[in-house]
Order: sequence, then C-alpha cells, then structure tokens
Amino acid sequence: ATPTAIMVGTGLGAKRGVFFKNAIALETSARVQVVVMDKTGTLTKGEPEVTDVITGGGTGDDELLRLAAAVERESEHPLAQAIAAHADARGLGRVRAGRFENVPGHGAVADVAGHRVAVGNRRLLEREGVGLGELGARRDEVAAGGRTAVMVAIDGVAAGVIGIADAPRETSAAAVAALHELGVEVVMLTGDNAATAQRIARRLGIDTMIAEVLPGDKAAKIAELQAGGRKVAMVGDGVNDAPALARSDLGIAIGAGTDVAIETADVVLMRSDPLDVAAALRIGRATLRKMR
Ligand code: ADP
Ligand code: MG
Repeated sequence: ATPTAIMVGTGLGAKRGVFFKNAIALETSARVQVVVMDKTGTLTKGEPEVTDVITGGGTGDDELLRLAAAVERESEHPLAQAIAAHADARGLGRVRAGRFENVPGHGAVADVAGHRVAVGNRRLLEREGVGLGELGARRDEVAAGGRTAVMVAIDGVAAGVIGIADAPRETSAAAVAALHELGVEVVMLTGDNAATAQRIARRLGIDTMIAEVLPGDKAAKIAELQAGGRKVAMVGDGVNDAPALARSDLGIAIGAGTDVAIETADVVLMRSDPLDVAAALRIGRATLRKMR
C-alpha cells in the first residue's frame, strides 16, 4: 500500500479504537477469510457468575461450596474466581488449602480440611479416576443451558456440580452477522465443553465450533484452519490465546484482555467490542482498494 493509504487506514482505525500495529497488519486485514474467536472474554463478557449449586446427597450446598472455594481461591482462573466470590457472598467461612495443584485446561486439586478436593471439568475427573454417576445427568442439564458445569470431587467421589454463566457481549451476535456480510467464515475456539459451547455458538450464529481444546493446542487448531493457504485471523483476550494469536495470519486482541495477548497481537481493539473485528477488516479492504 502507498504510505498515504496506510496513513489514512491507520487514522480511520484509530478513530474507532482499532489500533493496527503496523502496515502489514492493515494489509493482512483485507485478506482475512476466516475469523476464529475465543469464547470466554471475547464473545462473552468474561464475568462468570455461579448460577447453580447441585449436590449429590452426601454433602450439603454450603459445605460443597466451602471446599470448592478453598481450592479455587488458590487459582487465577476466571471460573475459580467466580466460585470463590460466590462462597464469600454467601458468607461461608474460609478454610485453607494445601498441596494446591493447578491443571491447565482441566481445573485444580488441593487438600482442604483433611480431604482431597478436585474442582474442574470432565477431563479432570477422568484424570482423578472419578465417575460422575447420578450427577452426570445434572451436569448435562447445566451444559445444555449454555452454562459451564464445574464438577467437585471429594476424596475420589463426585460430590456436586457448580453451574457458571458468562453472558455473551451485547454485540457478539451482530459481530458474527457483520463478518458474514464480508463473506468471512466465523469459528469459535474454546477450552470449555462441547455442549456448553454448542449452545452459545448457535445463539450467536457461529459457523464452526471447536471445543474442549487444551491451552497448548489452540495454535495447532489455527494451523489446521490455515490449510490450503487460507488467511486466518484469531481474536482473543487471554494468556492462553497468545500462541494462537502468534500463529494466526492476523492476531487481534481485545483491549480489556491480558498484557500478553495485547503484546502478541497485530491489531488491538481498544473498545473491546467484537463488532470492531468487522470494522478492522473493512478498513483493511478500503486501504487495499486505495492502493490500486
Ligand atoms: P478457555 O479456552 O475457555 O479460556 P481454559 O483453557 O482456561 O478455557 O479452561 C478450559 C476448561 O477447563 C474450563 O472451561 C473449565 O472446564 C476447566 N478449568 C480450567 N481451570 C479451572 C478451574 N480453576 N476451575 C474449574 N474449572 C477449570
Ligand atoms: Mg478467553
């Protein structure tokens, strides 16, 4: 592109809070064919809240929450913070956790009040050798509602399910529609379970959903989508997203995201509005047209 076209494009972006880090980012924006969106914190607000506390019988609601919160207080995961905050809001006393173990993409395990407590997804329970039993159906109900089901196992026995909701951002569905108008395929990529992700993807009009992806595997999924030379943009907010942002042809970070995501990306959306993804592509296209 000519220096003038690039200046104009960069200026147009800046006005809207779409920050292109360099000329290549602006040019690549014009050529994007696939946009991959991270779910949590990108398509959703990233403000998870506990909505359900389901117990298996042996343990009461408060006791389940108290133990789960003790483990999750040691974790920095947004789901963990939601559980800890909910326990505090219920006024449950805090107990200390020991031998804490964070299992990325799975959950967390720790010793609490003489019990071994595991809090996380199905994969974590499998890893701990715990079957869900009767709680399996309850877990499926939570997931079918588009909420994330976090399981709690105490001393190797499934004890409860905690449902957590994270509302979509107001403009997420409109953003998907705007990308479709540009002829772009929209993919949702998430570590969350398939049933929860499916429900949200459908609500937002997403074309393709890739769920239950471990943090270390997100970049490989981008590489698969790039097959045949397709130009793939990745939109993310989290530390986990950085390798995928780097692997993509155009990394786009949500401004409210982590420093690592913002540093890795080629474009930063200062307003944290998913609609600005389509704006970035339109500005790129306009810039490219002016070049010719
Ligand atoms: P995402 O791709 O949605 O940002 P992560 O890769 O961080 O998600 O986590 C994927 C899944 O692992 C979560 O949806 C959750 O089921 C589980 N998980 C990870 N950490 C925790 C935790 N501390 N407590 C409960 N569940 C967790
Ligand atoms: Mg995220």
